[in-house]
Amino acid sequence: MTKHFCVFGNPIAHSYSPFIHELFARQFGHAICYQRQLANEYNFEATVARRFRQNLSGANVTLPFKQRAFSLATRITAEARDAGAVNTLIPTATHGLLGANTDGLGLLYDLKRLNIDLLGKRVLLIGAGGAARGVLSNLLDEKPEVLWLYNRSQAKADALAAGRERVRVVSNWQELTGVELVINATSASLNGQLPAVPDNLLAASAVVYDMMYAATPTPFIRHVQSIADPACYDGLGMLVGQAAESYRLWWNCELPQIDPVIQQVRRALVAQ
Ligand code: NDP
Repeated sequence: MTKHFCVFGNPIAHSYSPFIHELFARQFGHAICYQRQLANEYNFEATVARRFRQNLSGANVTLPFKQRAFSLATRITAEARDAGAVNTLIPTATHGLLGANTDGLGLLYDLKRLNIDLLGKRVLLIGAGGAARGVLSNLLDEKPEVLWLYNRSQAKADALAAGRERVRVVSNWQELTGVELVINATSASLNGQLPAVPDNLLAASAVVYDMMYAATPTPFIRHVQSIADPACYDGLGMLVGQAAESYRLWWNCELPQIDPVIQQVRRALVAQ
């Protein structure tokens, strides 16, 4: 029997989620129908309710509705509570909706795929918006030695770091030594801008990861590559990783294979 899913967002026409989930379904021989569902600020909750009443077995939620999905869910996973945002909705036996956030695990799956081990590492996370909130707990679970958190608006970084061991908010770049992994969780690249991080720090890091992804290297990655030669990765693997975790939750199955799907999505992105 075909199971129905969708992704709610605005805009949504660009979303690769249907493609990704169809590729996962092929791995298992599952019958799936996964659609894009446009919603707006006035009808998001009503649209979700209507689609679940119709036939949905699950849904993803993307910008700008992740926080509204959090309020809508009748139960929340620990990760979603930590992030204050939901990107995955799962119907419950009592006709409610379980809200999950799979972004953090998506990033961890990708880092694992890339053989990037966080244990004992000195990490710099740039940004304190939804993406940073969504991944912080999962990153800390991997026991880095220290995680420095930098955000353009420091108050947001302070709020995110509050009460978390091993997180140090950057107020003075001189405090940072031996950073081995830099993760850019800002949306600066979307506007062709760069977060204000010193070049010498970026250049000294062994690995740089930009959560944004594109057909060509992101502005952040292009900048890093213009000053040094660390291993650089974009967030396409995280996108596929978070989708894989949603898929696993909905179908109650093994985690789909991520690597071949990343390659297929990358080819589609480049061909676009
Ligand atoms: P938000 O709007 O919630 O947060 C934006 C963040 O970027 C804030 O920390 C903001 O700082 C910072 N920022 C924006 N512009 C600049 C700038 N010019 N210089 C410095 N900092 C800036 O966005 P999200 O957190 O949801 O998304 C962030 C990025 O992560 C996006 O590129 C998004 O595409 C990507 N992402 C990727 C995913 C994936 O699966 N690969 C999943 C989720 C997100 P301030 O607080 O000072 O405004």
